[in-house]
Amino acid sequence: MTGPVFYPWSAQASMAPVRVAGAAGCEFWDDSGQRWIDMHAQLANLHLGHQHPAMVAAISNQAAQLCTIAPSFAVDVREEAALAILEVAPPGAASVLFTNGGADANEHALRMARVHTGRPKILAAYRSYHGGSEGMLGVTGDPRRWPVDTGATPVVRFFAPYRYRSEFGASTDAEECERALQHLRRVIEMDGPESFAALIIEPVVGSNGVLVPPQGYLGGVRRLCDEFGILLVADEVITGFGRCGTWFGVDLWNVTPDLITFAKGVNSGYVPVGGVIISERVAATFAHRAYPGGLTYSGHPLASASIVASLAILRGEGLVDRAAKLGQDVVGPALDALHQRHSIVGEIRGVGLAWAIELVTDRATREPYAPYVAPGPLTERMRTVLRECQVRGVWPLAAANRLHLFPPLIITENQLTTAIDAIDSALTAIENQEDV
Ligand code: PLP
Repeated sequence: MTGPVFYPWSAQASMAPVRVAGAAGCEFWDDSGQRWIDMHAQLANLHLGHQHPAMVAAISNQAAQLCTIAPSFAVDVREEAALAILEVAPPGAASVLFTNGGADANEHALRMARVHTGRPKILAAYRSYHGGSEGMLGVTGDPRRWPVDTGATPVVRFFAPYRYRSEFGASTDAEECERALQHLRRVIEMDGPESFAALIIEPVVGSNGVLVPPQGYLGGVRRLCDEFGILLVADEVITGFGRCGTWFGVDLWNVTPDLITFAKGVNSGYVPVGGVIISERVAATFAHRAYPGGLTYSGHPLASASIVASLAILRGEGLVDRAAKLGQDVVGPALDALHQRHSIVGEIRGVGLAWAIELVTDRATREPYAPYVAPGPLTERMRTVLRECQVRGVWPLAAANRLHLFPPLIITENQLTTAIDAIDSALTAIENQEDV
């Protein structure tokens, strides 16, 4: 019933994964020769596409020199990686703690915030994801938490903006922003402002549907945090390093967090790595006081070399600006047209190269095409939508009632258009089958 590999988030007996034979650039393929445009960059991490020669060279050169060394030693490549990250980070960034991935980056950021403030509790949004570890599923505000929630993590949750399904009855972005901030203020006031160490937020919500907050929201959150002495932690695991057409999601609104967590796009996932970018004032807390935490592989040389190479490519090829431009000039207009053509599309939204297509059974009532439920297989209907895309050579991600498009930042205009045309044709097939 179970194979040698235990697959995450899955009932093992139901697994029939595609056997990948190879991958290059924005495409991967199986043994039969079926190819797919990787419209989700694997798990939204593959900014530079598969098998980028400069990345492969950097990792193999480093492997030939020094594969591993404990975190307590100084090595050039680790410092170069930290400096390269600090160079593109928002102002006031002083130091980087390297971790193995995104979840442990968030664990450490929240631990730093607790030690720094001496306070226990965390504020987190509904419709958020912060990682699959025990602690971070406890913080996560989506159904992936439900089956495992022990209530042990001291978290208070709030609703963040989501205009299409407003919790606040808002009909404009300005109303959504103002009401969401007032709601957050009341949550803080009613739950003991001095009990909160940190507020953690995805600047643009990723796996819960690409929710881009209205102008003014994130700045307003920053001001509330300052008013109540709460640290602002930006979870940039999915938004960092160009995904939104800016180096970090917070740069869309010039907001400066106290701590930023990252993983995925920092090195396109060629070697597992994540980390915390620490502001001067939080770093100062640990100048003469030991930080209570560490990892055997913190600042792993192979990961560090891949970060140095990856940031050089992102900068050298202008891929961050390119992501902004492709989003604005190609993806946005193409998805707008899709929205016009298909009644099954309730809303399209996104920024840079992070986009979602939200499917509905009825545009007027906005009835979701699939429910927002605890983890498990997709509904039969969403499986069909995904299959119709895949048979047309496109690999998006399907989640609840949405298709997510997070292509590699190196994708060509032609590949984007081909992929969106294929999705267009897949949606036509679905509408013909279902009469929606
Ligand atoms: N935070 C966000 C916003 C994410 O999207 C993810 C992963 O998708 C994580 C944290 C967890 O990162 P990892 O899977 O590397 O632990």
